[in-house]
Amino acid sequence: MAKEIQVLKTGTECIAKYDFEGTSNYDLPFKKGDWLVIVKTTRDPNWYVAEKFCDGKKGMIPVNYVKENSKKAVKLQTMPWFHGKITREVAESLLNPISDGLFLVRESTNYPGDYTLCVAFDAKVEHYRVIHTNSKVTVDEEEFFDSLTELVAHYESDADGLCIQLLKCVPKDGVKEFEVKLSDFEQAGWLIKKRDLEFHEVLGDGEFGEVRKGIYRGIKVAIKTLKPETCTKFSIQNFLAEASVMTDLKHPNLVRLMGINIDETVKPSRICLITEFMSKGSLIEYLRTRGRAVITRQNQFSFACDVGKGMAYLENRDLVHRDLAARNVLVAEDNVAKVADFGLARPELFKSDSVGKIPIKWTAPEALRRQDFSSKSDVWSYGVFLWELYSFGRVPYPRVPLNDVTKFVEMGNRMDIPDKCPVPIYQLMIDCWQAIPSSRPKFESILQSLKAMQFEACTPATMP
Ligand code: ADP
Repeated sequence: MAKEIQVLKTGTECIAKYDFEGTSNYDLPFKKGDWLVIVKTTRDPNWYVAEKFCDGKKGMIPVNYVKENSKKAVKLQTMPWFHGKITREVAESLLNPISDGLFLVRESTNYPGDYTLCVAFDAKVEHYRVIHTNSKVTVDEEEFFDSLTELVAHYESDADGLCIQLLKCVPKDGVKEFEVKLSDFEQAGWLIKKRDLEFHEVLGDGEFGEVRKGIYRGIKVAIKTLKPETCTKFSIQNFLAEASVMTDLKHPNLVRLMGINIDETVKPSRICLITEFMSKGSLIEYLRTRGRAVITRQNQFSFACDVGKGMAYLENRDLVHRDLAARNVLVAEDNVAKVADFGLARPELFKSDSVGKIPIKWTAPEALRRQDFSSKSDVWSYGVFLWELYSFGRVPYPRVPLNDVTKFVEMGNRMDIPDKCPVPIYQLMIDCWQAIPSSRPKFESILQSLKAMQFEACTPATMP
């Protein structure tokens, strides 16, 4: 029986299975491995209208020459039993009252970089050193695991030399620790081969390493490389966490992840994150370099809407960005703004390990004081982003020294309206800066407010 062909919906991304030369001007020739997107289905079930990612050319393609480019999201794995840097004494008090097989994992105090598995047994607590070596972890230097999660799972199924099998963990209170595994990216189809990548000029310098322009299967991309000198387990985990958050995001106003690449031929291995290329760079630079001469009120308004839409999508998925600012918004060739930099983004309950790096001027007071990050603290940052947008890239809180900003805000002070900013936009900023998080609007209602003020916000500031 002939295999039934699955009909792909408009907007589906596909990969070409074979070369197609086409026979008429209506056809869209492509090569095996090219990326295409279905523009529409046709009356003939054997043909789609499609567009090639690399050059935007459109035409007819035969349905059986392409397959859907579906990749699964990579999830952060929770580690409820991981208590971070606690002392031996604190671990023992947490495991009290002792019940055989009760356990937790902590960071080793004597051997930084290693861990300690603490297991209650026979009225006392055994502390096993977990050695971290060559990206593997081991207790007995006989059996090695790719991750702590795998090690714990192993000893949960079998004592295998420990005093007792791990039976029940003492979960850590509050925010959850997480772990990401490289093999998860491989299994979910996110690994890009080095031979498919071309590295071009440097675009910018990021916190983790440089960002270069590149080509992947004929498409322009941005390649962010983790600096070799910062390749500690901690930074690799954060880098992979950023990638893993991005594997689950598909929205026209969020920068898309294409995949990750790992080069193990160099030591230490080099990890790259490949995203769509945003030709006009970061919005902050765009605002500062073009200014009022180029950027119209209409442009500002559409940037505000674009970012609001991207953030509403995150809010609906309970994802908190934690670092929304004009420097982390990128502009595409067609002037569409997209939120980027998911380096600190995590599901609401997860920990984001960067207390030292909190961008004070953009962060809501409750997040600064109590690490209470939520979509509502993202809304606060969106208010600061609007202020940057309407002041053409000025640094927020001009004249207030950085160390005084928190006090300034907590005393009820807010930034003034930027020069020539539409009043309803400023009102929106003030709403976003409500001291009580629940009094701030949701992103969905920010979008409605923007829609309602469209005419007023887009009318030129000075009428002739
Ligand atoms: P970090 O947040 O770690 O400091 P970024 O991801 O913001 O690093 O990247 C640094 C700079 O690289 C950006 O300001 C921008 O100029 C450039 N850049 C980053 N991603 C892209 C992209 N997808 N397209 C074009 N330029 C980019």
